[in-house]
Amino acid sequence: MNDCLFCKIVAKEVPADVVLETGRALAFRDINPQAPTHVLVVPRAHYENAAALAAADDGLADDLLTACHAVAVQEGVAGDGYRVVLNTGPGAGQTVFHVHAHVIGGRSLSWPPG
Ligand code: 5GP
Repeated sequence: MNDCLFCKIVAKEVPADVVLETGRALAFRDINPQAPTHVLVVPRAHYENAAALAAADDGLADDLLTACHAVAVQEGVAGDGYRVVLNTGPGAGQTVFHVHAHVIGGRSLSWPPG
């Protein structure tokens, strides 16, 4: 996608603090972190949101979740617990329309989220 910020990060056209790369996913630190660990995990391929990713039905959603857990382990937050968030659609707060999972941890997290 020509105009997609996260496609540009995947292509290394826009700099990001990358913490993990797999064959099908890239993980980088959120520019506006909401917790000590706040990493975004994106598929290299462009899908608008989680619904589009699920509809693709090619195992990529599994890969994304596996990458999220790998990030949590690498960041040292897997033991205490971490949150994976996929804001899907503007009403849920999605602002970048390339599906991304937020991996959030390193502090106590309240529920429900705002
Ligand atoms: P959403 O609201 O779509 O679920 O999350 C988008 C996230 O992308 C936000 O948490 C925001 O801080 C992050 N973000 C926006 N622009 C950039 C950027 O240029 N670089 C990085 N690393 N994160 C960004």
